[in-house]
Order: sequence, then structure tokens, then C-alpha cells
Amino acid sequence: MQNISRRSFVNKFGLGVGASVVITTLPSFITQSVKQKKSYTGKKLNIALCGLGNYATMLASGIAVSEYCNLAGIVTGSPEKALKWKAQYNIPDKNSYNYQNFDEIIHNKDIDLVYVVLPNGLHKEFVIRAAKAGKNVITEKPMSISVADCQEMIKACNENKVQLAVGYRLHYEPTHLEIKRLGQEKVFGQVRFIEASLGYKTYDTLDKTTIVDKKNDWRLNKKLSGGGPLMDLGIYCIQASRYVLGEEPIAVTAQFGTVNNKDRFSETEESISWQMEFQSDAISNCTTSCGFDTNRFYAVADEGSFELSPALSYGPFVGKTSAGVLKFPEINQQKTQLDEICKLLLANKKLPNHITGAEGLKDVSIINAIYKAAKTGKKISLK
Ligand code: NAD
Repeated sequence: MQNISRRSFVNKFGLGVGASVVITTLPSFITQSVKQKKSYTGKKLNIALCGLGNYATMLASGIAVSEYCNLAGIVTGSPEKALKWKAQYNIPDKNSYNYQNFDEIIHNKDIDLVYVVLPNGLHKEFVIRAAKAGKNVITEKPMSISVADCQEMIKACNENKVQLAVGYRLHYEPTHLEIKRLGQEKVFGQVRFIEASLGYKTYDTLDKTTIVDKKNDWRLNKKLSGGGPLMDLGIYCIQASRYVLGEEPIAVTAQFGTVNNKDRFSETEESISWQMEFQSDAISNCTTSCGFDTNRFYAVADEGSFELSPALSYGPFVGKTSAGVLKFPEINQQKTQLDEICKLLLANKKLPNHITGAEGLKDVSIINAIYKAAKTGKKISLK
């Protein structure tokens, strides 16, 4: 096993965690923000949130405590929501748009970036419209519902000379940066096998009643969602497998799970399991579901293992390695993601590949292959 630095961030952060913690150097943006609390006083990036549902509300909370951005505008189809958000976040009328007049944002110099938080099937349209209006764009994951859509989105952003990011919140999360390091730097040797799962029970399995009251849930509508939990949650298992191994899958096999609620899951899968093979011969075995709760990541390497449970949600994450406990300070994932993206955009720097449209396109290609494998029962090559 390679050296694992045991310098204690427990001391640094005053965490009451035992001496067996696997200690690593924290990413500089985390140590800086811990040391320099709110020291930035320069220009902030002005963001308009497009789609004001559940996750937009979480993003707005992240923006509220961010250092590098402001919530400056909104795009919504609901006049009632517009009134509420304008009052709550002090947004002027001139920065409030609906889906019809959104293109007028081209004339609004007070908006720098549009963050698309709409149902997956609408990401393409609004990313392209934002790009044509000359705004940088972040779109939520999955980037879109087809490879062709992703390609069009990338092309539109390139043609309009704006940057495109995908909202991969875990790319800034210290526990995830650590498992990425453990895997890619082969701290416990070559990773051979990964197990990852993320699922949320959205209805009661016994009486089939809906837990989350969503009669018209867009996630159950294939045109708007592109698919079921694989699109929504399974993407995190794909991401974690890819960044821990630092490799792309070369083939996938997949199996749809049992459909317990046929009314609810008539267009999209209720559960799906899949296996990804990598060039190094590593295998990742993943499951996602709307029928049960699961949230874990486990990697076994030649000389040890590391795991998290919970692993892929909003945290806090709890983990261990074969050398000890794995624990980092909890962060606000949305704030950190936005600050790191906005910092680069404010400095006119290029966003790193691992959060751009190119990365979103890779995930959507893999998702496509997984669905094809589940439908055909065949191994699908990604070479
Ligand atoms: P939501 O249903 O809570 O919000 C969707 C919003 O889109 C609503 O305000 C709705 O009014 C609006 N909308 C506009 N046109 C619509 C249409 N034709 N049908 C349905 N809604 C329409 O969904 P959400 O959970 O906020 O998800 C939005 C996006 O954010 C999705 O792409 C999802 O994958 C992503 N998301 C990401 C995370 C994350 O952790 N990164 C978490 C949750 C959701």
C-alpha cells in the first residue's frame, strides 16, 4: 500500500473523530474557504435560475451563502412563483422571465449565467436559448435525454462562445475527491471491483400508494425524463465509478428489475442493475431504484478497500477504508459547486473538462448503452 498522509485534519478542524482516520490534504478551495471565511469582495457572477422546482430551491439556498455569485434573475412559467421568488430574493421585475419571453434575456447585461433546472427533456431547448442569448450556462444532470441533444448543446455553446457546465455537485465534495484520489493514485493498489447504488422509495411497496405525491410527476414521463431512476440517480453511480477508476467503461450489461407498481412505472423503469467493464479489467456493479432506498459505494483494490454509506446524496457522508475511518467536514455542496464554477468564469478561465458538456455527453452515452443492454439482454460495447 502506498503512503497515506496521516497529518490530522481532525486537529485542523477540531473534529471529534478517532485516531485511525485516513488523513489527506484537503483541496485548496476547502481549506481556503475554512480559513478565509467570506473574504472575497470582488464582482459576483449574476445567475438566473431557469425552472423553480425543488432543486432550484436548494440551489437558491447555496447561492444565498455563496461568495462568488448572486441570484439575480428567474425564469418560470408560474406568475405566482415569480411573485414569491422576486419578493424572497429581492429580484427586480426586469430580471424575471417566463418560458416565452426568455430570449429577451439577451438584452439583459445584469445576467451573466443561466442555470437550467428544468425536467431533463427541456435542458436542450433552454441551454441552446441561453447560449444564443450569449449567457454562460449550467444545466442540471443528466445533461439531456439523448446523445444527439448533448452534441447540439455543445455545438450551440461553442458557436456562441459561452461556457457550458453540468451540475455535478459531488465533483467538489471532499469525501468524493478523496475516493477519487484513493482510486486514481492506486493508494490501495488497482481497484478491481466497485459496487454502487442509489435509490429512493417513492411509493409504498405493500399497498402501492404514492409516498411522494406526484400524480403528474415528470420523472415518470419518458419524454420529459428520458428514463427512470437510471437518468435521475444511477448517473451518480456511473460518475463515481468513472472518477474513482479514472477510466471510461468499455462495455456494459444490464437488467431491468421487477416492476412492483405497474401503473406508476408504465413508461420508465422502476429499478435497473448494470455492470460496467473497464480497460483495466475492473468491474463496477450498480443498481438504482424508485422502489427501495439504497445509497452506498464500495471499492475493493489489490491491497485494501474503501467505502461510503451514505455515499451519493447531499451528505454528510460516512466512510471507512481498510486503514481506518474516512471522514471530512460536511460542506454545502451547492454553494461549493457554484463558487468554484463562478470563480473560474469571473476570471475568464476555461472550465475543467470533468464538469463540462463533454463530460455530460459521456454519461448520457453510457446511460444509452445501459438501456440498450437491458432491452436486448446483450453486452453493449462502448469502444
Ligand atoms: P421539480 O419537479 O421539483 O422542478 C421542475 C421545475 O420545472 C418546476 O418548477 C416545474 O414547474 C418546471 N417545469 C417547466 N416545464 C415543465 C414541464 N413541462 N413539466 C414539468 N415541470 C416543468 O424537479 P427537480 O427535482 O427540481 O429537478 C429539476 C432538474 O434538476 C432535473 O434535471 C433533475 O435531474 C435535477 N436535479 C438535480 C439534483 C442534484 O443533486 N444535482 C437534485 C434534484 C434534481
